[in-house]
Amino acid sequence: MSSRTAIEQRERPVLVVKGLTRAYRSGARMLNVLRGVDLSIKAGEIVGLVGPSGSGKSSLLHAAGLLERPTGGDVLIDGRDCLKLADRERTRVRRAKVGFVYQFHHLLPEFSALENVALPCMIAGASGRDARAEARRLLTQMGLAERLDHQPAQLSGGEQQRVAIARAIVNKPCVLLADEPTGNLDPRTSAHVFEALMDLVRHEGVAALVATHNLELTR
Ligand code: ADP
Ligand code: MG
Repeated sequence: MSSRTAIEQRERPVLVVKGLTRAYRSGARMLNVLRGVDLSIKAGEIVGLVGPSGSGKSSLLHAAGLLERPTGGDVLIDGRDCLKLADRERTRVRRAKVGFVYQFHHLLPEFSALENVALPCMIAGASGRDARAEARRLLTQMGLAERLDHQPAQLSGGEQQRVAIARAIVNKPCVLLADEPTGNLDPRTSAHVFEALMDLVRHEGVAALVATHNLELTR
């Protein structure tokens, strides 16, 4: 790839949301949570989604990540208009192109940090050797080279979240969605995890949308 093409690749938006609406029925009334959201995120770019609890951050992430159908609007991932796809194809796009991180790490307790990150890669078809090599690379990038063999219970909260972030991007998604990934951490640890997340997003060239109610971190 020429450097010019590489730059064009980077400038292309990978996650585009257009006129997204989401209404929930509440008794006889409709609750309009998302009222026409537009956003566009390029590779290597990180966008913070800030709002108080109940403002619709998770609703937006779930729709953008193809986990739930919104009431209206469009979601384009890597140039594909995803809401027009049949369910099975949409699920395929989600698995291949979107990584998720939640407030709780959801790591498998019986497995080491390395295994937790390598597993999704093996499930996607990589050999154990390649999957472990990629997991080691990402965990090292996240500052966890000395924690590869620790089980989740042997890691601090911030370390657990860094493992969860590495796991979310091990299959090279083009979009990373994080729903209050530092919500359970103290402010100092939050800042560290956030920095590691930003480095990784830039380094791996993923487009990230990160929900948080912490305005400090977004700045
Ligand atoms: P946030 O993540 O910013 O806290 P959410 O997207 O979870 O906000 O929720 C936004 C609003 O939508 C809240 O008022 C919530 O009660 C409502 N809501 C979320 N999911 C549902 C649902 N499945 N049914 C009805 N109301 C919902
Ligand atoms: Mg939420």
